[in-house]
Amino acid sequence: MAGALAASASCIFCQIANKSTSTSLLHCDDKVVAFQDINPSAFRHYLVIPVEHIPTVNDLKRKEDYSLVNHMSEVGKMLLLRDAPLSKHRFGFHQPPLNSVNHLHLHCLALPYTPRWRCIKYLSLGSLGFIETEKLLEKIRPLPMDPSKV
Ligand SMILES: [Zn+2]
Ligand SMILES: [Zn+2]
Repeated sequence: MAGALAASASCIFCQIANKSTSTSLLHCDDKVVAFQDINPSAFRHYLVIPVEHIPTVNDLKRKEDYSLVNHMSEVGKMLLLRDAPLSKHRFGFHQPPLNSVNHLHLHCLALPYTPRWRCIKYLSLGSLGFIETEKLLEKIRPLPMDPSKV
């Protein structure tokens, strides 16, 4: 897609997804890649991003975005279950304007937070701040098919 290619030149996460950096990937497939947060806030702190350049949670408007976010979440869960099976896990996204990088990224946190005060970055504050994956999926769930047409 032209839009995605145009964005990739200046977007660090596009560069990571296209494997043009030295960042080591914990997972990669044709839809998503996962890697460690360079400034971890917890015992384990991974990011899962779509290969495609999608700026923020506000840009998840297509039908296929639901399954994309669901897939990101499954990859994150799989990695934390493998690497931190005994920790409490949290998964979610920063909502604009409080997001850091303008390329959608799922934060996968295995607690405890390090240092402890970092927990404030991952508080859910309604429509501001951090939104947990489950809540985001509820929000972008495609409308059920019209039962009269089934
Ligand atoms: Zn990007
Ligand atoms: Zn973030």
